[in-house]
Amino acid sequence: MTEADLVRIAKFLQMKASEFERRYVYRTRNLLRLRMPRHTQCHFLLENGCSIHPAKPTQCRIFPYWPELVEDKKEWRKTAAWCPGIGKGPLVQIETAKEQAREMRQAYPGMYD
Ligand code: SF4
Repeated sequence: MTEADLVRIAKFLQMKASEFERRYVYRTRNLLRLRMPRHTQCHFLLENGCSIHPAKPTQCRIFPYWPELVEDKKEWRKTAAWCPGIGKGPLVQIETAKEQAREMRQAYPGMYD
């Protein structure tokens, strides 16, 4: 996640950014990451979906239009095999998908340089 994601989500949860970070985030050399709880994929994934949907991290908002998927048909097909949302809903133009991929690159330069 980005620093802006952290601040936005903390605000959405009515928490101080520092408190949100202490409870839910860890830092690597280049990235901020959400901590993974023991028995589920994400602290914010509830039965009816993402509980922070309006403020969710950039990578969640942009998924599946990540550069590594948009630019690699094989990886796209592999992801589509398990993601129930891919192939459903309104058609998304390739330029829109590429634009999202560019936003992802800009948001996480440490991952794509
Ligand atoms: S969209 Fe992101 S923040 Fe929300 S539940 Fe899924 S992984 Fe967690």
